Amino acid sequence: MKTWKDIFMEKVKEMHVTEPWILQEDNTIQVNILKPGWKEFMQRRAFGRFQCSQCWHKWSSAKVHILFHMHRSRRQCQGAVRMRVFRQACRQCPDPQLEEPDFSQENMARILNNLVLKILQECYHVPVQPSDLVEVVVDAPVAGPHDSARCEGCQLGVCREPRPAQASAASTRVKKASTHRIWRGWDLTPQATQTCCPPSFSSTSLWKRYCCIGGCLLCVLAVLLFVLLYFTNK
Ligand SMILES: [Zn+2]
Ligand SMILES: [Zn+2]
Repeated sequence: MKTWKDIFMEKVKEMHVTEPWILQEDNTIQVNILKPGWKEFMQRRAFGRFQCSQCWHKWSSAKVHILFHMHRSRRQCQGAVRMRVFRQACRQCPDPQLEEPDFSQENMARILNNLVLKILQECYHVPVQPSDLVEVVVDAPVAGPHDSARCEGCQLGVCREPRPAQASAASTRVKKASTHRIWRGWDLTPQATQTCCPPSFSSTSLWKRYCCIGGCLLCVLAVLLFVLLYFTNK
């Protein structure tokens, strides 16, 4: 079983983010409360499975929200993500604890895929369309309505849908195959090297052009010299 950190590392590599990034779980971060320079991304409507630690009752929810705060340090050429999964409580216990959900590996990969897209957009200024975000699939039927009284997200006011545009984007079905194609062409090196990393990008083409112009000038000079010598010898 891969952890959030394992899959995050894979996604960062797969989507050509050249700088190192780390992911940490942090249950203290809050919606819209950000340190300067930090960006926020909320993955809504993820599907998770819960189990009560007191009575072992199991339930599923398609309304699990995951909050991410992300920050890229230009000076240190690295990035950090804090992650908070909003918990739910058992409806069969009189005095339940908040339980953390489990996610399928596929859903974890999709959630982190969306996160890295947001990192590319917010921290590297790569254009990302709302439709590029992958829906976090429901892989089992969910019984009953959302129990707001026992949802940490509802208690903190994060379960409410923010804007209709974002809601419709979240419900847009995106073909699985197409998602891999989207970022294949992205090369983050120009932005990533702006501040401190050694340049390794298309300066070679510029060199080729200079060499070409220099070569042409040399040829012209050689011809002129030859003509001059020819006439002075006569
Ligand atoms: Zn219980
Ligand atoms: Zn809720």
